[in-house]
Parts: sequence; structure tokens; C-alpha cells
Amino acid sequence: MTRLDEAKAGGDKRLDVAIVGAGFSGLYMLLRLRRLGFSTRVFEAAADVGGTWYWNRYPGARCDVESMQYSYSFDEQLQQDWRWSERFAAQPEILRYINHVADRFDLRRDIALETRIAAAVFDEGAAEWRLTTQGGETIAARHCIMATGCLSAARVPDFPGMAAYRGKTYHTGQWPHEGVDFSGLSVAVVGTGSSAIQSIPPIAAQAAHLTVFQRTPNFSVPARNWAMTEEYERSWKDDYAALRQRARAETRSGTIYEFSTQGALQVEPEAREAEYERRWRKGGANFMHAFNDILVDKAANATAADFVRAKIRETVSDPDTAQALLPHDHPLGTKRICVDTGYYETFNRDNVTLVDVRHAPIETLTETGLRAGGKDYAFDAIVFATGFDAMTGALASIDIRGRDGMALKEAWTAGPRTYLGLMSAGFPNLFMITGPGSPSVLSNVIVSIEQHVDWIADCIEALRAAGDHLIEPEIGAQETWVAHVNEVAHRTLYPQANSWYMGANIPGKTRVFMPYIGGVGAYRAICDEVAANGYRGFRREAARRNRPAMSAAG
Ligand code: FAD
Ligand code: NAP
Repeated sequence: MTRLDEAKAGGDKRLDVAIVGAGFSGLYMLLRLRRLGFSTRVFEAAADVGGTWYWNRYPGARCDVESMQYSYSFDEQLQQDWRWSERFAAQPEILRYINHVADRFDLRRDIALETRIAAAVFDEGAAEWRLTTQGGETIAARHCIMATGCLSAARVPDFPGMAAYRGKTYHTGQWPHEGVDFSGLSVAVVGTGSSAIQSIPPIAAQAAHLTVFQRTPNFSVPARNWAMTEEYERSWKDDYAALRQRARAETRSGTIYEFSTQGALQVEPEAREAEYERRWRKGGANFMHAFNDILVDKAANATAADFVRAKIRETVSDPDTAQALLPHDHPLGTKRICVDTGYYETFNRDNVTLVDVRHAPIETLTETGLRAGGKDYAFDAIVFATGFDAMTGALASIDIRGRDGMALKEAWTAGPRTYLGLMSAGFPNLFMITGPGSPSVLSNVIVSIEQHVDWIADCIEALRAAGDHLIEPEIGAQETWVAHVNEVAHRTLYPQANSWYMGANIPGKTRVFMPYIGGVGAYRAICDEVAANGYRGFRREAARRNRPAMSAAG
């Protein structure tokens, strides 16, 4: 039996719900639907569960939301039992946690691993989705849920000469499971985003020489990670339910930080500097919340940006290298703020060189390395920390066809169009978890995942209860939502950066701010209100006699 057959063996070939992806989203979605008695399977391309934390095994990979918060909240016993070893958990620990969840809730029996979904086509007559795996097998399901991740389509720029290069190449998002030993090697890292900034210090500590190719300097704040203390753990666990509720309902980012009620320019310069210094010393993205207008007021933002630039000058000994590392082309935080451990200090090592490729771009890979600005560099290994086709890439790599054979890719050529980031008009019964138009990547993503999963599970349950076979956004509701997402984004400084939030990292991708910036609390209230009003803005269709019924409530 193939793995897919094994996964199917426990149930009907025709599923109530097919879920694509077995990261945090897919696993919780499976659990919710199974508990409601729906026949459900997860289809996952990887050889195991974990999503982001399965794929991104590069040295230094860890979360930048504190582990007490970057974890599921749906099960009180789970959050009490699990013990995190550090303030910010590293990738192996997060992966162990996800595996623990899969085992604890007996999820694996409904997951088909090594099963990439290549196509999903809506059959209007039967009101169901037909999924085809890369291996050619097909699955029919009334609903299809894309739990495919916002940062799961790894991207290496289309450099000429890739095939000619004789050394080893790696992408941070597809790191070899056996690890990589860079000892004694001359290594290049291309990119200075979050993945690069985390991986550069440990690679530099191991390699004979490391050359970093930087196109855009980024803002980074120190993590100042520490081993978990009993006291800190207790401060969360004693009050977990209330704290989680606060993160869900009362914050914008789904994370509890030390929020400020003051604007940066409302305080005296000395007090402002002291506040930045205090937060810099504590570490983490809490720095972004020193004042409440850093992401909306350019002058306020400049005070924080100047503070970080001064820290870079202070940290990096060589003035030319320091100068090259100073971010200058975007307001602080409008590209995701990086959180590092010894990043700027790494440029003081004798074995590290920074090459600025802003004005002298990488032209080609060669047999021995790469050529940038007309100069040849030789390397034993090149690490591409070049990011992802974010938010839409994983969806675009599946041939998704809705009504009248319309391709999702075509429907979204001018940028993704969704209602609430949950569904797209013309694609009935197709849900997205953390889809474009929802807070997703602007939040503690697990908070957003749990909210979407709960909303989708409740929606599918409501459809069953009403005897409805179909749900789809009304075009008017969708257009209003897309306009709202855009309008709210433009009240902030975010659209001023050439970020992956804007699709700007992919040549030819339409530039539109993709996530919803209204905050998870406000967004949740909107979604709940839509559901409470009979799924306002969605069109529903009652069952027809020739269509198979869904499983009865368990
Ligand atoms: P993913 O974890 O991306 O899982 C999607 C799964 O779908 C993958 O396993 C993929 O293989 C599978 N898949 C995709 N397409 C197909 C297909 N066609 N067929 C079958 N399977 C498919 N978020 C935070 O909030 N805080 C952090 O600190 C943080 N750190 C991060 C660090 C890194 C290095 C990266 C890349 C992301 C980080 N994120 C962070 C975002 C992170 O992606 C989310 O927090 C979360 O893990 C997403 O879970 P998911 O299940 O939605 O998607
Ligand atoms: P990224 O932020 O998109 O960074 C990619 C880097 O590659 C950028 O510096 C980019 O430069 C550079 N690059 C791309 N093409 C290039 C080219 N042709 N020549 C030279 N440089 C090139 O990707 P990422 O670092 O993987 O991070 C993606 C997201 O994942 C993060 O923003 C974050 O949400 C998440 N993440 C989180 C953590 C964490 O700390 N928890 C860690 C890793 C990732 P330009 O800026 O000039 O395009």
C-alpha cells in the first residue's frame, strides 16, 4: 500500500474535508474536524509533520515570539504539561512540540505524508473538490482547506549559471536533515533577512571564511535569549487562560508585549532614548512597542531607527562595514524586524566579509562561486537565505480551479482577492488558513491559525446543520474587504518598504499589501460578527438530491 492508501484505509475515499499541509494549521484543523465527526485527511508533501519547523533546520533557527506564547492554546492540559526550555525556542524544540501534539492527539493515522497535492479542481455538479496528488492519485472532498503556509514556498533567485556551480548550495528553508558541517570551508550567505541574520553567526563560528552578500541592510534587535526559569513559566501557566484570551482579543499582533500609550515625540529626547535602551537590553521585538506610533508616524519611526543605527555603529568596529550595515531605505519594522543573537558582532570577526550588492548585483553563479559587480568570488558552499514566495506561493504552485475552470492564479493576477482572507469568490468550499487578507504573518501566527481553524470548523458544522452543500463569498463583500485591507494598510508606514508583505521580493509579482493590518482582536470581532449574522457576505446553497451527504454529526 502507498502511504496515501494507508491514510485512506481508515475511511471513505470521498472525504467530507481534505486538508493540505501538516504544520500548526493542518494539525489543529484535523483535530477540530475529527472531533465534529467529519471524515477528514491531511495531505502533506514532507516526510513528516511540522511545516515551517520541519523544513527550516538551518543553524540558529528559532522563533522570535516567546515560546510561552508561540504555542497552541486550545488545550489547557497541553499548555500546562509542555515545558519550554528557553525564552525563544529553537527549531528542534518546536519540532519536538509539534510531534508531541501529533502523537498526543493521535493525529498521524489521518495524515498522508510524502503526498504533494498538484491540483484541486471544483466539480460544480457534485459540489465537491477533486484533488490530484503529484503521483496521480485522486481524492474527492466536499470541502478543501489549504493549510499550506504563508512562508513555505522557498525561493532561490533565478541566477544564471546555477547548474555550472560545482560547490554545494543550500536554501535555509530546505535545510538537509543531517545538518551541514562548514568546518574549514569558504562559505557565502546570500541575503540579510531574518533567516540570514539568525544563521550567519553560527555559520561564521564554524566556517574558515564567511562572505555575506547584502542587497538591503535590515533592522535587527538582540534576542537576549535565556534559559526558562520556573518563575517565568509559572507566571504564564498560573494564568494561561486569561493571558491567552487577552492576546487573542485585546492585541493587534496576538502577542502580549509591554505596550506603551505614549507617542515617541510626546516625551523628552532623554526619556525616549532611555526607553529604547531599556528595551534593547531586555531584548526581543518588545522594542517595537516602546511607543505606540512607531509604525504609523514617520518622525516617530525615525527616532527608533536612529537608535538602532547608533547601536550598529557602536557594535561594528570597522567604520565602512558599519556604514554598509545601516538600514536606510525603509522605516524600521516595515520589513519584518529581525531578532538576532550576535549578528552585528559577527562582522568584527576576522573570518567574515560583507559585500554590498545593492549597486553591484550578483550576476551569475560560476563553476567555482559567483560573480557580483564584475568580480569573481570562490566558495565551497553557497547558502541562499533568499526567502519565500510569501503568502501566495504555496497556493500558486497548486493548479487550483474553481467555477468554469477558472484558475486561482489568474483570478489573483492583480493581487490576492479574498473575503476575510478565508475564501475567494469563484472557489466555493475552498478555505485558506491564514490566507492573504487576514492578519496571518503580522501576528503571532499560532493565534491567527487557531482563530481561523475554529471559524472554519464552526462554519462547516453550521453548513451541515443547515443541510447546505456550498458556501462562497459574494463578490461585493469580497471587493469591500479587499478595499478595506488596502485602505488600512495605507494608514501605516508598511507599504513604504519593498517587502515580501508587498510581494516586492518576487520579480513580476503584483505589488499589493497582502496581510490585514487591522489587528487580530478587531479582525476576530469582524469574523465572529459575520458568522453570527448567518455568514453575512457569503452565499450558501442547499443540498441537492444527487449530491452525496456529509458524515452525520458524531
Ligand atoms: P507551514 O508550517 O508552512 O506548513 C504548511 C505545510 O503545507 C508544509 O509542511 C508544506 O510542506 C505543506 N504543503 C504546502 N503545499 C503543499 C502541497 N501542495 N501539497 C502538500 N503539502 C503542501 N511565526 C511566528 O508567529 N513567530 C515566529 O517566531 C516565526 N518564526 C518563523 C521562522 C521561520 C524560519 C519561518 C520560515 C517562519 C516563521 N514564522 C513565525 C511563521 C510560521 O510559518 C508560522 O508561525 C507557522 O509555523 C505556520 O504554520 P502553518 O501550518 O500555517 O504553515
Ligand atoms: P526575507 O526576509 O525575504 O529575506 C531574503 C533576503 O534575501 C533579503 O535580504 C533579500 O534582499 C535577499 N535577496 C533576495 N534575492 C536576492 C538577490 N537576487 N541578490 C541578493 N540578495 C537577495 O526571507 P527570510 O530571511 O527567509 O525571512 C522570511 C520571513 O520568515 C521573515 O520575515 C519572518 O517572517 C520569517 N522568519 C522568522 C524568523 C524568526 O526570527 N522567527 C526567522 C526566519 C524567518 P532584499 O531585501 O534586497 O530583497
